[in-house]
Amino acid sequence: MICVILLGPPGAGKGTQAKSLSERFNFLHISTGDLLRENVKKNTPLGTKAKEFMEKGELVPDELLENMILEKFNSLKEIKGFILDGYPRNINQAEFLDRILNENNCKEIIIYLQSSEKVIVERLSGRRICSNCQTIYHLKNMPPKRDLICDLCGGTLYQRPDDQEETVKKRLYVYLQETSPLIKYYQNRLNYIFADDEADIVFGKIVEVIENESNLK
Ligand code: AMP
Repeated sequence: MICVILLGPPGAGKGTQAKSLSERFNFLHISTGDLLRENVKKNTPLGTKAKEFMEKGELVPDELLENMILEKFNSLKEIKGFILDGYPRNINQAEFLDRILNENNCKEIIIYLQSSEKVIVERLSGRRICSNCQTIYHLKNMPPKRDLICDLCGGTLYQRPDDQEETVKKRLYVYLQETSPLIKYYQNRLNYIFADDEADIVFGKIVEVIENESNLK
């Protein structure tokens, strides 16, 4: 089984790319942010605990996430591969993931989406999400055909509360402090991709890496 790990700051395009990649390769898209938001929406015990951290733009504590990750892993049957979007986000999570991937004989392909702060802030402030199917839009770069209505399912688009300016600043700070050390942790296991370009250009580059590192041409 192949595990594609997408690393990069908030706004680098992990969610958008993961969705396109999952369609292209028929891989499962696992977004820890989406899973957590689902828990918050359903008011589960995990959601109730995670909410306060998410609202502040902080990382949800590792031990709260571990069960969710393990459950997801145990449910993976008869799939070619999966894409991790938003996990790992610190060294402890990366070590936990290394153990699970080893135990399950997974081949990892790690992609680092490198983005400048200017582009990140612009992307996050214009980002809108379908409240029904979670498709990602951008008011300028990827607008829906009808104002604030999802092209795919007709759901209403909303702005994630943590995409507002103050929380974005906090998330970028948390990224620098806690997540960016992963670049050193993974060192020569990383594939660097310049991610300021338009989504389809970045997509082409990621596809090339995945095809080269696996036998999926
Ligand atoms: P995302 O949708 O990936 O931007 O994640 C939204 C929020 O969910 C983050 O700001 C965190 O509060 C939380 N979150 C998502 N993934 C993780 C993770 N791997 N570790 C801790 N918190 C996470």
